[in-house]
Amino acid sequence: MSAVPSVLTALRSQSQDPVRLLSAASAQLGKKMAVLSSFGAESALLLAIVAEADPEIPVLFLQTGKHFPQTLAYRAELARFLGLKAVIDIHPAALEVQERDPTGELWAFDPDACCRLRKVEPLALATLPYEALVTGRKRSQASTRAALPVVEEMPDGQIRLNPLALWTAEDIAQEMARRGLPAHPLVAEGYLSIGCAPCTRPAGQSADPRSGRWAGLAKTECGIHTAS
Ligand code: SF4
Repeated sequence: MSAVPSVLTALRSQSQDPVRLLSAASAQLGKKMAVLSSFGAESALLLAIVAEADPEIPVLFLQTGKHFPQTLAYRAELARFLGLKAVIDIHPAALEVQERDPTGELWAFDPDACCRLRKVEPLALATLPYEALVTGRKRSQASTRAALPVVEEMPDGQIRLNPLALWTAEDIAQEMARRGLPAHPLVAEGYLSIGCAPCTRPAGQSADPRSGRWAGLAKTECGIHTAS
C-alpha cells in the first residue's frame, strides 16, 4: 500500500488548521481513517477536534487491561461529553496473553515484550483496514518527537496525521480551557502523560511530561508509532 500523492498534497495544504485537516481527511478517506487515543492527559483536545470535524470517525482505544480505573471512567465521560459515535476497544488476543503473560507481570521484567503483546500487535491487526491513522503526538512531548511532521507517510504507505504536532503544552492547556474540556482526573495529582498504571508515575518537577512513563528505564515509547 502507498498513499496517493494527491491525497497527501491535499492534506498537507490543510496542516495549519487541525479541524480543517481532519475535515479534509474525512472527506478524502471516509471510513478508511481512524483515530488512536489513550484518553490520557492531553487527549481531550484532539478528540474535541475529531468530534468537530466528524464525530463518526472511529476512535481506537487500546484496552491493555492495565489502565487506571480513572482512565476508563474518563474515556466514558469524554466520549459522552463530545458526542463521539464510534469509540472502539482494541484487546490483545486472550490466548496470547494466557501464553505469554500468564501472571500479568510481564511489564515488570520485559516491558518491551508487554507493549508488543498488549499494544503493538493488537493495533497492527486492528489498523489493517485503515489507510490513515490520526494521533495526538506532539513535538513538545519528548526529544524523540522533535521533528514530528503533521502529515506523515509511514514506510508501509499508511498515513499518520498528527494535527497537534506543532502545539506546545501551553497552547493545548489554553485551548482545552477555552473549549471547557474536562480534564483527566489524574492530572490534578501530577500525572502529565498517562499510560498503563504499572508504567506511569507523576512527572514531578521534570520539564519532560513523558518522564513519568517507564520511569527509571531507557524505554520512552511503547512501539506503536514506530512499528509500521
Ligand atoms: S505500558 Fe506497561 S503495562 Fe502497558 S503494555 Fe506497555 S509494558 Fe505493558
